[in-house]
Amino acid sequence: MKQSIYGLTFEQLTSWLEEHGEKKFRSKQVWDWLYQKRVTEFSQMKNVNQSCIDLLDEHFTIETLTEEIKQESQDGTIKFLFKLDDGNVIETVLMRFNYGLSVCVTTQVGCNIGCSFCASGILRKSRDLTSGEIVEQIMQVQHHLDKQGKDERVSHIVVMGIGEPFDNYDNLMDFLNVVNDKKGLSIGARHITVSTSGIAPKMYEFADEGIQVNLALSIHAPNNELRTQIMKINRAYPLEKLMPAIDYYLEKTNRRITFEYILLRDVNDHKKEAEELAALLKDKRHLSYVNLIPYNPVADHPYERSEKEAILTFYQTLMDHGIKCGVRTEHGTDIDAACGQLRSKQIEKEKARKKKKMQTN
Ligand code: SAH
Ligand code: SF4
Repeated sequence: MKQSIYGLTFEQLTSWLEEHGEKKFRSKQVWDWLYQKRVTEFSQMKNVNQSCIDLLDEHFTIETLTEEIKQESQDGTIKFLFKLDDGNVIETVLMRFNYGLSVCVTTQVGCNIGCSFCASGILRKSRDLTSGEIVEQIMQVQHHLDKQGKDERVSHIVVMGIGEPFDNYDNLMDFLNVVNDKKGLSIGARHITVSTSGIAPKMYEFADEGIQVNLALSIHAPNNELRTQIMKINRAYPLEKLMPAIDYYLEKTNRRITFEYILLRDVNDHKKEAEELAALLKDKRHLSYVNLIPYNPVADHPYERSEKEAILTFYQTLMDHGIKCGVRTEHGTDIDAACGQLRSKQIEKEKARKKKKMQTN
């Protein structure tokens, strides 16, 4: 199968072209067509010689995702469901903030981490996305914006869609390289956030990359007992492995970490847990920010959203202990915008349709 041209970093494309007998400067031209003029066919690359276009056509594709569903919410959030070359579906979300347009990308088809509250976790991972498929999600959204003709650009990226980015590390790094490159989309590293469920060894590696990309850690509970109950990954990387990895990251980068904390009613949302979390983060509070996430109920999951009161108390308790925090504002709740929800609904529908078909046959 041909590979997506979006998967190659500038350096990789340059050496590929050289290896195939093309001049070095071609990569600059090709990138300009891909990321500035944003064409969708090689034949549209006007100043590129025909032999090079034929070569690219023979080995690469530009568009590999097809849009299956596009849902627009009242608040301007747009949820895209894309079909991959192999028939799998993934989702990508565009959110509007006062500081810009942010895209939430998917990194894997399903997720093996299997957190008990997450819609993506029920469907096990069937494969990693390629770097090209991750970049193309941004490009598909950008092409959508281009078509609207309002000269809008994707300015921020959150790697918080389906999948565990640190379980697809090399493709994640190529993706970050491509979208951050000044010759391409040039999305500032400080405008990009990668969220992990806490794969400790990869957090050390990420700290050593020497890049300015933000890190978010899904902590969700202040002690091992509770954390293991809702995130089984905590067995492999419990807090005593996670906290040193965080300390290493902070020391190495001096960059703030965002701790994500999903509030599950009567599970992890008591004042007691807020105090415990504050104690856990006490020595690093100058470089910590806690993002409190109101839970988006997922069908067949045992959890409920916390009461407003509980959310406020949790927030206030952290603030009283000098921990900076905020409650995540919600986007597109009317369109299943929670991680993996649209996709899992679509898969359920497909299953039901097949079952019905079998019964009628
Ligand atoms: N696997 C990575 C990144 C993807 S999940 C991680 O776990 O960090 C990104 C975020 O979406 C996580 O913080 C997770 O807690 C949140 N999330 C998952 N399901 C959710 C739900 N039903 N409601 C609200 N947030 C959810
Ligand atoms: Fe995977 Fe993140 Fe969902 Fe956990 S919350 S199952 S790590 S996508």
